[in-house]
Amino acid sequence: MTESSASKFPEQFVCPLCHGELEFGASRIVCSECAEEYVYQEGFPNLIRGGEFLDEWIPERVEYEALAASHLAADYWIPTFRRLLAGTAGRPRVLSLGCGAGKDVDLLAAADFDVVGIDCGTRCKAWSQREQRNRFFGANGKHLPFKNESFDLVYCGCVFPHVGVEGDSRKVLPNYLDERLAIAREMARVLRPDGSIVVSSPNRLFPLDIVHGRPPAHPYPHINLPTSRFLLSRSDYWKLFRASGCTMFYLLPVSGYWPFINKRKTWQGRLLVLPVRAVFDLVSRRRFRFLRGSPISPWLVGLARKQELDNYNKYLEV
Ligand SMILES: [Zn+2]
Repeated sequence: MTESSASKFPEQFVCPLCHGELEFGASRIVCSECAEEYVYQEGFPNLIRGGEFLDEWIPERVEYEALAASHLAADYWIPTFRRLLAGTAGRPRVLSLGCGAGKDVDLLAAADFDVVGIDCGTRCKAWSQREQRNRFFGANGKHLPFKNESFDLVYCGCVFPHVGVEGDSRKVLPNYLDERLAIAREMARVLRPDGSIVVSSPNRLFPLDIVHGRPPAHPYPHINLPTSRFLLSRSDYWKLFRASGCTMFYLLPVSGYWPFINKRKTWQGRLLVLPVRAVFDLVSRRRFRFLRGSPISPWLVGLARKQELDNYNKYLEV
C-alpha cells in the first residue's frame, strides 16, 4: 500500500486510542495528539488496539467464507442496505466491522457504497486478493479509528458471539458483557444520528447453532444449550444497544441470508436445510413477524437505531 492509496479516506480516520488526527506516512502512521505509532502490515494500515482475534488459518474455510460472503452481499446486504439508505445524499458511507476476508467490501463498493472494512483477525491475510485494497484497515471494534458520526450504516455479520470468548471457542469469559458493550458503543459512536446499525448471528434461544462448532461440510449442527451465553438473543442485543444510546431495536426479515452452500453437499445437510429455509421464509413474512427472535427461529438480523425510522414497517418485510 502506498501513501496515496491509504490517504483516500484520511478525513474520517482518527487515532483509535485518543481520537486525535493521524498522519499517514510512507512507512508508519503517527497520532498527532498522543504520538502513538502504527505500522503497515502486509501493505495495510494496522490500527489495531485492544487485541487481535487469532483464530486458525484454514484455507478451505476462508475460501468457503469468501464464497458465502459473495452470496450474502448480493442476495441480502446490498438489497437491505439500499432500502435502509434510500434518500441518503451522495454515496452512503458504510462500515463493515469484522469484514474477515473482505469479499463483501469488494461487492458493496462495486454496488456504489462508499464502504470501509476493518478486521483484527487472521483473515486480513486475504485482503491482498481483493480488488478494493485501499478500503481495508486493521482495527478492533472496541477501538474504532473513526471520527464520531462518520457512517450512514455500520454492520457486522456474526461478530458479537466471538467477542468476550476464549480464542475461537464457545467458552465465554467473565467480562464478556463489557467486551460486547464496548463494541456496541463504538458502533453507535461512529454512526450518524439518523444512521442504521445492522447485526446478525444465530439466535441464542434456538436449540441448535447452525454455523458454529463444526467443520463447514459437517451435516449436523451443534446443540446450543439454553445456559450458553456464546450466542445472543434479541433481548441480549437490545440491552447492549440501548446502553449505547440507541432507542430502538427491530428484527429484520432473514430470507436470502444463507445460501447453505456446504449443507447442500450431503443428503443429511439437504434434509436439514428444508425446514430451516421454511422457517426463514415464514418468519420473514409480515404476519409472522412476531416469531422472529423466538425459539423457532435459528437466525437473527437486527436493526438498531438512535432515531425512529419514518414508516418503519416497509423495512421490516421482505
Ligand atoms: Zn492518539
